Amino acid sequence: CGIVGYVGPNVDGKALDVVLEGLARLEYRGYDSAGVALVTGDHVSTEKRAGKLVNLTEALASHPLPESSTGIGHTRWATHGGPTDENAHPHRGGQDGKLALIHNGIIENFHALKSGLLADGVHFLSETDTEVVAQLLAKAYEQTHDLTAAMQQVVGDLEGAFTLLAVHADQPGVVVGARRNSPLVVGLGQGENFLGSDVAAFIGYTRSALELEQDQIVTITPESATVINFDGSPAQGKQFEVTWDA
Ligand code: GLU
Repeated sequence: CGIVGYVGPNVDGKALDVVLEGLARLEYRGYDSAGVALVTGDHVSTEKRAGKLVNLTEALASHPLPESSTGIGHTRWATHGGPTDENAHPHRGGQDGKLALIHNGIIENFHALKSGLLADGVHFLSETDTEVVAQLLAKAYEQTHDLTAAMQQVVGDLEGAFTLLAVHADQPGVVVGARRNSPLVVGLGQGENFLGSDVAAFIGYTRSALELEQDQIVTITPESATVINFDGSPAQGKQFEVTWDA
């Protein structure tokens, strides 16, 4: 229900702080679970908990994750699968679990997609529609070795409403987002970039923003925010300044 993404210079180590602050600013939307994924070196680590954000921050305090400059965070409003730790986002994808994905919305055709994956022997850890996308994206990554190309391949198979953010252990310093019938905004910083389901997610850091339009994918690194349409053609998004106070 709330989505935050961050990429900064690989020495800043502030991904977790930025992501948790963003999730706190999005709390007003309501949620039943929360979670984060961080990329460090060639590793993705996740923590997620049912309940309030404090359950997540307490879990992180007792089992700290490695410092990171690339992260994503999610507050969930369950639609498929009850509000449990397992169903909380992020969801991992691939046998190696190197991919992590968060999602706002509903994948209408997830049953059909899941049947195909189950027939291929894919093992699921949750009851969510979202985990299906995580597994599809991991498969696409194995072919493309590029998270943006993998995302472009997978969104073509999805029906419904989604804002998706993904990270992969083999691409530290990159977060890829996609949206259809659900909002996604980029926050443009100096040597760091942000993603949010709304500008409240990053208002503490930058007021320069880029709104993604329907059926677009964005790839952020510390130095760039690149937008394409689902068909792969280059796109711009709508640039604006946030003028109100949060
Ligand atoms: N449909 C997804 C789930 O139930 C995402 C819900 C949301 O937007 O938070 O896990």
